[in-house]
Amino acid sequence: MGGSIYDLVDDLQDAAAALVDAAGAAGLQPRVTSTVRTRSEQGRLYRGYLAGARGYPVAPPGFSAHEYGEAFDMVVSPMEALADVGYTWQQWGGGWNPADAIHFELPGASARAKQAGSELGAGSGPGASATGLITTATDFWLGSNVAGLLRLIPGLSHSEALAVLSQPYESFQKWLISSISLPTFRL
Ligand SMILES: [Zn+2]
Repeated sequence: MGGSIYDLVDDLQDAAAALVDAAGAAGLQPRVTSTVRTRSEQGRLYRGYLAGARGYPVAPPGFSAHEYGEAFDMVVSPMEALADVGYTWQQWGGGWNPADAIHFELPGASARAKQAGSELGAGSGPGASATGLITTATDFWLGSNVAGLLRLIPGLSHSEALAVLSQPYESFQKWLISSISLPTFRL
């Protein structure tokens, strides 16, 4: 599913090519590993992530900036140099987060994708309630809403709720999904 950077939205193509060139010029042997993904590709990756097959965070289908052509993944050698590459990308105005160091996006792309995904979840259908729940989870995490989490998961203690809310979002999301039965997202 590699894809080409020329499948990305116009605004991102030139900057992506420039970042690959800059990393190459620095001797970092850049390799773009993912650009645009379809909904079903995202779903497959996400199930793999939940099953522990992938170390980097994966958004649920509908929620990834890759599905909207606004992000690409790139590895370099050595991988530690991703911090410098990410810093460069940020200096250029792009979005980058060390928690997902291979992921480079347009500014605000992940936030837009989460919004678009939650709008998908507002519809009906077998995936709608699960998608809605993950959106709710995002809101809890962003607001560190212990009371809301305790309502969502009866039996959770206050200190457990605090502990899980202090995790990075991706591990919180993974924890939540493993704690609640969500048939749509299980293998
Ligand atoms: Zn990515």
